[in-house]
Amino acid sequence: VQVIRTRTELDGLDALRADGALALVPTMGALHEGHLQLVRRARTFGPTVVSIFVNPTQFGPGEDYDAYPRDLDSDLALLEPLGVDAVFAPTPDEMYRGGGVRVAPGPRSKVLCGASRPGHFGGVLTVVAKLFNLLRPEIAVFGRKDAQQCLVIDEMVTTLDFAVRLIDHPTVREADGLAMSSRNRYLAADDRRRAGSLWRALTAARGLLEQGERDPARLRRAMARELAETDGVEYAEIRSVPELTSPARATGRLLLAIAAQVGPARLIDNLVLGVDADIVAETALFADGGTP
Ligand code: AMP
Repeated sequence: VQVIRTRTELDGLDALRADGALALVPTMGALHEGHLQLVRRARTFGPTVVSIFVNPTQFGPGEDYDAYPRDLDSDLALLEPLGVDAVFAPTPDEMYRGGGVRVAPGPRSKVLCGASRPGHFGGVLTVVAKLFNLLRPEIAVFGRKDAQQCLVIDEMVTTLDFAVRLIDHPTVREADGLAMSSRNRYLAADDRRRAGSLWRALTAARGLLEQGERDPARLRRAMARELAETDGVEYAEIRSVPELTSPARATGRLLLAIAAQVGPARLIDNLVLGVDADIVAETALFADGGTP
């Protein structure tokens, strides 16, 4: 894999554009199978660049920026067999060059994770905007695991007229349903078992929806019951997609979203469901579903 460390080397990407729609998969590294599925998806569109950058501006004070796992060599070994065309792995100085400008996120950023992590989505949007400007992808593939992040990025792309098509790839899970995450490596054995309760909470709520329950408060209580074995629930909510407002009744496109502490890790997970009179089905965040 060609590794690009500086912005001047990015000119080399222009040769790739002739081969099809350039696809970007932004990551913070410490890659796992979830990331690799995003990369395989991106490859179906055209030449693919993976960015690996632990973005300092999206971490708050006291969060795990310093502890966040970094291992470029093993990331490159995982990407090698996938036919990735380039990896962009800048240093923080190369990326930011000292600039203090930030993208101001829109209304979708104010709730859920945005309520407890002030500045987080501003940091995410700033780095994503920079990646879009530096790499000029036609396609960008994100994980539905970070559903709010997808919707906040979509809000920026629409409002600021970025010429990129967004794809939300389904969440990749362990056998017990736990969403894969670079932060799962913080979990000791007992934490790892209890971490499964996020998925149990989501499936409990989905089960009630399938039985016809449409009261958001009852669905929230069902999630809270399953989450009792975590070390603290930050939120367990039902929201409308894409606005992330609280619906009076649980119908239409819904985001069931959880953030909870398990041992040393703050874990998030969600389900995106389309709910009408009698059908409950998992659905994409972005309307066209991203079929190439
Ligand atoms: P991160 O390295 O955690 O910033 O994640 C990079 C990208 O991978 C983001 O778009 C995430 O949503 C996505 N991602 C992380 N974990 C998963 C997963 N388990 N399934 C699908 N996508 C994921």
